[in-house]
Formats: sequence, structure tokens, C-alpha cells
Amino acid sequence: MTLQERDKKHIWHPLKQHQTHPNSLGIVKAKGCILTDEHGNEYIDAISSWYTCMFGHCNEYIIGKVHQQMQQLDQVMFSDFTHPAAVELSEKLMAILPQNQAKIFFNDNGSTAVESAIKMALQYYFNKGDQRTTFIAFENGFHGDTFGAMSASGLSVYNGPFEDFLINIHRIPVPNGNNHVEILQQLEAIVNNNKVAAFVYEPLVQGAAGMKIHNADGLDAIIKFCQSNNVLTIADEVMTGFGKTGKYFASDYIETKPNIICLSKALTGGMVPMAITSCTQEIYDAFLSNDIAKGYFHCHTYSANPIGCAAAIASIDLLTSEEIQKNIQRVSRSHVEFGEKIKTHAKVKSTRNIGVIFALDLDTNMERYGTLRDLLLSSFMKEGVFLRPLGNTIYIQVPYVITDAQLEKVYTTIEKVLNQL
Ligand SMILES: *Cc1c(COP(=O)(O)O)cnc(C)c1O
Repeated sequence: MTLQERDKKHIWHPLKQHQTHPNSLGIVKAKGCILTDEHGNEYIDAISSWYTCMFGHCNEYIIGKVHQQMQQLDQVMFSDFTHPAAVELSEKLMAILPQNQAKIFFNDNGSTAVESAIKMALQYYFNKGDQRTTFIAFENGFHGDTFGAMSASGLSVYNGPFEDFLINIHRIPVPNGNNHVEILQQLEAIVNNNKVAAFVYEPLVQGAAGMKIHNADGLDAIIKFCQSNNVLTIADEVMTGFGKTGKYFASDYIETKPNIICLSKALTGGMVPMAITSCTQEIYDAFLSNDIAKGYFHCHTYSANPIGCAAAIASIDLLTSEEIQKNIQRVSRSHVEFGEKIKTHAKVKSTRNIGVIFALDLDTNMERYGTLRDLLLSSFMKEGVFLRPLGNTIYIQVPYVITDAQLEKVYTTIEKVLNQL
């Protein structure tokens, strides 16, 4: 029996309607930018396995650091103990995060990094005797699948069964360069009529919405408005963090810095799950008291797991190296050239890019998980390239270490498949 057949017996996959899509391809190996399936076919991983393995799969440097850590200290409780890997990681993060960040809180995944940020914001005000009940978020944002994170997400097509249980959110459009004034008016009305705890947003790029890029000055104006009206700002950098946009963090493009930042995905270079919620000293200080209940009683068993910390330390070493920074610039320049070329294609409506992120919209209306989208995905796979279209958007987010030849193959495959449409 193949892996695919054995899988069907006991496994329930995420984001899948098993009745219409019963098959999951067995992947048995990954190295650098290449995934190998159980039949020996190879695919270029052009979306870095959901934007995680930016330094290439099974990266030797990360493996080395993780291996050393495994022999030294595997796991220890983090509520009463600390350990060298957590301390070193906190120092390395502080060196690259926006300057106003002061404290690091550990989580296991992107959703709980956001969940934690939402709880921090609520308790920040609760501890000051100011109970707040509402949040602000962008239309079409995505922040994860736990209840708080799901509430903040505006991509709610699949949230139907849970809608009655979500927290209170007011939505604003993303800034497009022409709608500053209306957004600020809308914000004013929301803030005047509600007790707003925080604004949760994906800075500059909305990943799950289809790599939609918005206006940096407009975002800065929104953050400034929030902060001057005592609304905390939570930057969800789970997708954008660690070099994707060409800077360490998307918030580096924005003048006003967030009070809280959520990180995961590329944090460990795809080696193990881990997430971070960082915050300013001011947020942290609101939890200091002789009253135990004012502390932050949120904890995951694997908080600051040493193996995860070691993988993250190694990933930051790589990210900040000259070699990786040069690679990011190289991929970024190639995307610009490809954009110039493909934007005149008859099937292409528009293109956009920032850093190693590239996206094009097809000149058609497609369902997010419809038949044309399935056809595109399988056509790309037949050509040996793993790309995962979202609605009518085809996007690329390759590992920084992709070779020029591999990147060229991703581009020519997209062109070829578009020509066949
Ligand atoms: C992926 C993602 C999340 C959720 O992360 P998980 O690890 O899948 O829970 C949250 N926010 C953004 C912006 C993401 O891209």
C-alpha cells in the first residue's frame, strides 16, 4: 500500500473536504528547496511550506544547533526555570526587533501568539481597572484558528459554525493610498462608541487574503491614531517576520512601532513549531503587582522548548548573515523583473511584490478552493513546482536560498500554465 492509501485509513487533514479531495500526496524527503514524493518525483517548494523554511529544508546549520541542544537539554518547565537557549534567543530577538520591544513571551504556534496578544491587551486594561470589550481589525485579515485569533480574522467564509461565539470586532478597510480620511473617520466613530482594547493587523501584507499589499503611510496614520486614543496596536508578523518583505520585519517600514508583535512561521526556519509574543516595557509593567492575580496566567506546556529555541537562534544567525541578506535582495530583484514581464500576459490582471513575496491576480473570478484553482495546483505539480493559488491569486514565496535556475523554473512554469488556460 502507498503512503497515500494508508493515510486515508486514520488521518483527518486540516483545511480539507475529504469527500471531494480524498488524496494527500506522500512527501518523504525535503532538502534545500526540493520536496520529494513517495514515487521519487521532485518539486520546487515555491511557497516555503507555508512560509517557514526560508533557509532551505533540512538546513545543516540549524540541524547542527538543534542536535547539540538535544544532547544538552531537551525540555524543562518554563514557569519556574529558565535555560541558556531561551535567554540567548531573547537577546538575539531584541537585537533585531523594533527598538520599543522589551519583553518576550513564548507560545507554540501563530494562532496562540495572537491569542496571547489579545489576552495581554484585555488584561492590560483590566489590571488598570478599565474593562474593555472590543477590538479593531482589517477586512480580510487572517490571524489564526483559535477563538480570539479567529474572531480577529476577516476571512470568515469558513467560520460559520462559530460566529455566535466570537469576540467583538469592528472592521476597517486596508489603507490603499486614497482612503486615509474615511478610515480615520470610521476609527473615530468606533473609538467614541466602544471600549476598544486593541487594533490587530497584518502589517503591509495580508498573507492568507492572497498576499495583498497595503499602503505604509496609511497604516502609520492608523497606528498613530490608535496609540493617541489609548488603543493598543498588535502587529501580527507571523507571516511577514524574519526578512520576507526585504527588512527583518514589515513593521520596519512603518514609522510608528506596535505595542505588541506576534511571531512564528520562519522563526525556527521550519524545523519545529514555536511562536513568540513580544511587547513593550509599558505593557509588561501593567502586570507587575503584589497581587498575584494581576500576573499573566497564560501558559503552554512546551513554552520556550529548548529545541525550538535552538532552531530559532540558528535561524536568526542565518537571517542576519551577509549571505542570506544578499539572497533576499537577489530574489527581490528577480521578482521585479518577472513582474514586468508577466504583467502584460493576457490572463494577468495585476502583479505586486515586496521582498521575496510575489503575487499575480488572474483576470477571472475564482472560488477560493474552486475547480480552476485545483486545476492550477495540479498543473504546477505536474511541472515539478509546488505553488498553492488562493482564489484568483497565484503567489510565490520561495526560500531565500533558492538558486537562480530553480527560481527561473518557477517563473517559466507559471507562464507555461497560464498559456494553457
Ligand atoms: C499562519 C498565520 C497565523 C496562524 O499561525 P498558525 O501557526 O498556523 O496557528 C496567524 N497569523 C498570520 C498572519 C499567519 O500567516
